[in-house]
Amino acid sequence: MGATTMTELGMSSRGKAPYYFEQGLETMARERLAALQLDRLRSTLRNAYEHVPLHRTRLDAQRMKPDDLRTLDEVQRLPFTVKSDLRDHYPFGMFARPHRELARLHASSGTTGKPTVVGYTRSDIHSWAGLMARSMACAGVHPGDVVHNAYGYGLFTGGLGAHYGAEALGAVVVPVSGGSTERQIALIMDFGARVLCATPSYALAIAEVAEQQHVDLRASSLEIGLFGAEPWSDEMRREIEARLGLKAIDIYGLSEIMGPGVACECEAQSGLHGWEDHFLFEVIDPETARPVPEGQAGELVITTLTKEALPMLRYRTRDITRITTAACDCGRTHLRILRITGRNDDMLIIRGVNVYPSQVEAVLVGQPKIAPHYQLIVERRGSLDHVSVEVEAEPGIPEDAFEPLAHAVAHRIKSLIGITTDVLVKKPGEIPRSQGKAVRVRDLRKRSA
Ligand SMILES: [Zn+2]
Repeated sequence: MGATTMTELGMSSRGKAPYYFEQGLETMARERLAALQLDRLRSTLRNAYEHVPLHRTRLDAQRMKPDDLRTLDEVQRLPFTVKSDLRDHYPFGMFARPHRELARLHASSGTTGKPTVVGYTRSDIHSWAGLMARSMACAGVHPGDVVHNAYGYGLFTGGLGAHYGAEALGAVVVPVSGGSTERQIALIMDFGARVLCATPSYALAIAEVAEQQHVDLRASSLEIGLFGAEPWSDEMRREIEARLGLKAIDIYGLSEIMGPGVACECEAQSGLHGWEDHFLFEVIDPETARPVPEGQAGELVITTLTKEALPMLRYRTRDITRITTAACDCGRTHLRILRITGRNDDMLIIRGVNVYPSQVEAVLVGQPKIAPHYQLIVERRGSLDHVSVEVEAEPGIPEDAFEPLAHAVAHRIKSLIGITTDVLVKKPGEIPRSQGKAVRVRDLRKRSA
């Protein structure tokens, strides 16, 4: 912070040179970055060992002391942490700081059982705001930009995460939260927002309502969309970009690790820079838990390097991705995580074929006569899993065209993904619209299990 000169600010009019929030850290040579990571990994390990009984027990079982760690590769000797550890130690059992040192709590509602609770010290909140500001700058946001923040405010980390980040960057934040879509559109137009923060599914809902109201958001001041908190396909990205007239940037985070801002795309849109001075990223084979070579797909595992209140050792994110350390056009040296289009938990196994909802989305979006709203319904028929796909016809398509349209979509899914589905074409507006995280899959198997 404080490094922003007036010249840089003057360039904010969509300048050619990239705008960095913390240039020194973002473009640091990779050898120096690795040295910083090792130093911070040792402190994190000490913090976890000394203050969190669960980590101490597990490290003792591995006969490991925090100071034993000599190289970054030795992180592979550390035990994993999983989401259920947080639930099992609900609410504060994994915190490394007493309440008097905490500044905030967030929680994510579990679909089953207890929520997972995360805590932050004042310094953790400061780091998070800085990383969100860095992510926004990486996406092309500049000080002075109006940021329309439609992420939900509350226990969910999205709203406040983006809010504090925009403020730290020096942008002007409009704290709208989700819902009241018609009013959101009026505010975007009236306040001259350049940046829209939302889930991709809610961005699409905003586009749809604007079109119904004959408001052309493509002609508005919007130029950048910062979209995250749910997996989305490149086809959905192109759809949103075309309908809102902006550049759609993917941002990644999870509350167990911090919240949004763990990684973010730059203007090159070719992978999300993961901020390695604050996090150590690994990719492992989800079956064997062994590391996979760079560039190969596997489960993303993250160790926090600066978190005080809730240090995380080798947290298994369940997100399937690949990473690259190749140089990026923007000049940032931090590795890139390829766009995450599936989470292990969301993967469906349909008659032996592994399918992510985002693969079906990629087939549906851009199909003529089909609107990009969908739900997958998974149920058990006899001993086999079966998927029904509910899609919507575009406005103006006559109902007697629904049946042939459904056959055409089912055929396309079969030929591109290899699974047989029942497709049901519904009338415009019949698929529920998201106000935050979209519900893409209704799994009826769990109900009977
Ligand atoms: Zn880049």
